[in-house]
Amino acid sequence: MTRSSTRLPLAAWDHRYLWHPFTQMEEWEADTPLIIEKGKGSYLIDAQGRKYLDGTSSIWVNLHGHRHPHLDRALTRQLRQIAHSTFLGLTNPPAIRLARELIRLAPKGLRRVFYSDNGSTAVEVALKMAVQYWQQIQPTAGPKQSFAHLKMAYHGDTIGSVSVGNIELFHARFKPLLFPTHQVEPPYCYRCPLGRTYPSCDMACIDPLERLLETRHRELAGVIIEPLVQAAAGMMVAPPGYLARVRELCTRYNVLLIVDEVATGFGRTGKMFACQHEGVTPDLMAISKGLTGGYMPLAATLTTEAIYRAFLGRYDEWKTFFHGHSYTGNPLGCAVALANLEIFRREQTLAQVRKKSRLLARLLQPVAELPHVGDIRQCGFMVGIELVENRETKAPYPLERRIGHRVAQMCRVRGLLLRPLGNVIALVPPLSMRPRELTKMVAILHSAIRETT
Ligand code: PLP
Repeated sequence: MTRSSTRLPLAAWDHRYLWHPFTQMEEWEADTPLIIEKGKGSYLIDAQGRKYLDGTSSIWVNLHGHRHPHLDRALTRQLRQIAHSTFLGLTNPPAIRLARELIRLAPKGLRRVFYSDNGSTAVEVALKMAVQYWQQIQPTAGPKQSFAHLKMAYHGDTIGSVSVGNIELFHARFKPLLFPTHQVEPPYCYRCPLGRTYPSCDMACIDPLERLLETRHRELAGVIIEPLVQAAAGMMVAPPGYLARVRELCTRYNVLLIVDEVATGFGRTGKMFACQHEGVTPDLMAISKGLTGGYMPLAATLTTEAIYRAFLGRYDEWKTFFHGHSYTGNPLGCAVALANLEIFRREQTLAQVRKKSRLLARLLQPVAELPHVGDIRQCGFMVGIELVENRETKAPYPLERRIGHRVAQMCRVRGLLLRPLGNVIALVPPLSMRPRELTKMVAILHSAIRETT
């Protein structure tokens, strides 16, 4: 145990009792943990009263800032009614109202809401629904139960969602537990896997998916995709029209389209849902993160009436979707999610994000000039800054150099919290971040990249 951690009993207890996610605990134990006690607007405040800009929106969940009075009130008001009752065989007013509101806002054609508690599980539910759907609508046909997805996709950490993901570092160890899938190259224009250049490539990267669907559609239950931005892969932004082409192909080959809006949903890209940029309605849509504005763990899988209807029947036909969790439809989460959606209307959040995204793009221009910045990818309030050892050759920094981590450490000292994705610095500020805070955030990042690389 370090000297600094023994000074604070909480730090010592953290070191003694906790195990943090995605964290090398040996390194964690050697350092003093940053204990966040409070939040206000775009800031997180630590146990010593130091303020940090929340440059990751607390891992992409916070939308309207910390301690938003409308969200605080909604939560306490619901607490006076009830904190939780089961959703198995019972229902509750906030869950009903929220489902109605989500359907109003979702891409046209999505008509049913199935609740769960986190993004991975919302994806897991979509996969299970897809497999059971095909069993029930074509019981005599051959099994349609495999999935196609993009390489470098990240859909969560449960076994199903890891199976349809492909980030080597996170997923390789669990291969013995995973089901086989079909993977195709992603639209990663900066390092095009086909060696082509956009737009003259004519989006040739879609061709392997088309060939796969053509040959394997009889066994494919669905294609799962992060719409517009492959977030954990390093904020890889797909070229315009890519998602619409995937939709077209899925329709043509009778394969379900599952859109994972866990990271992109709720205004992050400038529309309520990213697939709305391309007028796409998926067959299943997973949402979480921003659903409660960063207040409570809640998730949902939205689907069409056609899919829902395939699960109807007499009890002993066993068409029921046998899936659910103890905290499904939690009233506190649903109440705060409803208030979250109200803020979108009251504060014109989407129009504000679109306007401030343009400011953010302007602020990032000098960052793009830095000698070790290879690529800046932005879609609304999702930004990935890829650092490279050599800009001409695009040679990446070896991962063990931990360049992203070192930049983030320097930002932290200067009052900005970030969580890098390998060599990519992810900037995902709360949608409510003010222009002068955005300016400060980018200035800190600029100096940290300049001095670290
Ligand atoms: N899907 C996407 C696209 C994500 O980015 C994430 C998390 O980052 C998840 C699913 C998993 O969500 P959760 O961490 O809530 O399980």
